[in-house]
Amino acid sequence: MDTQCKATSKSGAPCSAQPVRASGYCYWHDAELEHERQANRRRGGQARSNQARARRRYQKEQLSLNEVNGLLAVALKGVISGQMEPGVGSATAALARAIKDMTLATELEQRLQALEAQAAHQKGRSA
Ligand SMILES: [Zn+2]
Repeated sequence: MDTQCKATSKSGAPCSAQPVRASGYCYWHDAELEHERQANRRRGGQARSNQARARRRYQKEQLSLNEVNGLLAVALKGVISGQMEPGVGSATAALARAIKDMTLATELEQRLQALEAQAAHQKGRSA
């Protein structure tokens, strides 16, 4: 098998990709692989739109710490009054702690980045 694709690229130079089959053409230039290329492009597009949908959904579902506090109060009152299983209350508390830790870590990260950017800016001015 040849070590280089037989096709020429749009610029007129020989294609530098390696042939994938006995045809001597690379994946992008082999005419028999057009169906496969189309299927792969379709799959790539679907994966991208699924990711975008998931991202939008996660952003919409985010809770503020105030909202988490409200849910914790509901769980606390529910457990005390006997209207909520203690196990559900415990799970609520654990999830709320995870949300709080994540929120605080994200906030600290953003503040640190802002400080670093400010420090780099000041260093640039004094030099
Ligand atoms: Zn090629």
